[in-house]
Amino acid sequence: MNEYDSDKISDLMQSVNFIRSETLADVDCIIFNTCHIREKATEKVYSDIGKIKKLNRFKKKPIFVLAGCIAQAQGEEIFKRTNYVDIVVGPQSYHRLPEQIKNFAERKENFSATNFELIEKFDTLDNLKSSRKSKTSEFLTIQEGCDKFCSFCVVPYTRGAEFSRSFSSIINEAKKLSDNGVREIILLGQNVSAYKFIDGSKTYNLAKLIDEIAKINSIYRIRFTTSHPNDMDQELIEAFKYQKKLMPQLHLPIQSGSNKILKLMNRKHTREYYLDLIAKFKQANPEIEFSSDFIIGFPGEEEQDFQDTLDIINRVNFINSYSFIYSQRPGTPAVDRDQISLDICKDRLLKLQSLLGDIQMKNSKQLIGNKVEILIENKTKTPGQFFGRSKFMHSIFFNSENSSPGDLVDIEITSCNSKNLFGILQKEEVLA
Ligand code: SAH
Ligand code: SF4
Repeated sequence: MNEYDSDKISDLMQSVNFIRSETLADVDCIIFNTCHIREKATEKVYSDIGKIKKLNRFKKKPIFVLAGCIAQAQGEEIFKRTNYVDIVVGPQSYHRLPEQIKNFAERKENFSATNFELIEKFDTLDNLKSSRKSKTSEFLTIQEGCDKFCSFCVVPYTRGAEFSRSFSSIINEAKKLSDNGVREIILLGQNVSAYKFIDGSKTYNLAKLIDEIAKINSIYRIRFTTSHPNDMDQELIEAFKYQKKLMPQLHLPIQSGSNKILKLMNRKHTREYYLDLIAKFKQANPEIEFSSDFIIGFPGEEEQDFQDTLDIINRVNFINSYSFIYSQRPGTPAVDRDQISLDICKDRLLKLQSLLGDIQMKNSKQLIGNKVEILIENKTKTPGQFFGRSKFMHSIFFNSENSSPGDLVDIEITSCNSKNLFGILQKEEVLA
């Protein structure tokens, strides 16, 4: 989501005649868009500000903006911690940046905006012109915030309550993206499956949104991320059966395979519920593959709980996942609980990642010799080489003389390593 927000911030700055610089020398303004989800990201921001300060090669000090969730969480405290920051702007009020920059240039007074102003934000973004070149695959924010309050997570505090963007504004943005050459849209939000927009007597959910975007001819592929297991309705499950543009790959974080830990995390679902849900998706579309997020070393996690997590990984055969050691976040309910030692956490993380890696390798090896349809995303730095993704998000490299990003092509897979697949281009078939 920060990638999406950074692009929008770039468009906003362009509307007041700033252009994006490729180098740091002589810039008039520096904007850091920050993440607060784990402690490491937060620490990194202050050390990066220190590095920028040390560079000291600017003729005049650039205006420094701290944007994103750290800005939201720490607000005006930031001005006390470092005098290098001039403007603080949270993720739901960054549409006010042009006005803040102008004010700062005139008065040299620090400004901070950390209100939740989602309607105003999306209204501003809807009317924003962009001269950015779109990529083949682009994110599109449909929902922000979260009402779930998992006991480890800062999102409900930094991104605020669940908010669904208007249906028509999302469709307009999807059409603009397709006019700009985008062929795949990834619908984005902290909890996209909670998407609900009421317009008079009509209620729109995620499945309806997907169907409407699928009507845009030049959009070939649709994905969404991230979802909470408790919000998956039957209509969405069915969409995986009939909607051919919806890719059969679902990121569905479980965090832990232990019911005891899920309860302590306030996830409000059990492992049985999760496995049952997986079975329903498989029934709707037997081809579907899953990925997940895992937190290791959550307070109270014993060896048996960790084994339960490994067990769920073996049962579901996740093809690609993210895993993190639990990080204490200020203001969250779990922050004061007894911590698991870092050595145990590191050991468990290694074991879990090794299992995920083995499953991924097995899955990749099974593809060798098969024909796989990919959407080409870009040319690589190696002459004649292209990069694309399969329906299941596999990263695939191949050579071609006359392919272009945005083409759908068939590749015969010839080899793989732990991260990527390699193959040979078959007959090119571009969808019209
Ligand atoms: N809404 C999604 C997750 C959004 S946050 C869901 O419900 O699953 C993205 C991921 O960051 C989470 O899935 C979780 O695995 C990780 N995460 C969040 N808070 C964390 C913390 N305090 N420590 C470690 N990982 C965390
Ligand atoms: Fe955080 Fe996701 Fe839980 Fe919401 S549902 S609190 S975003 S982990």
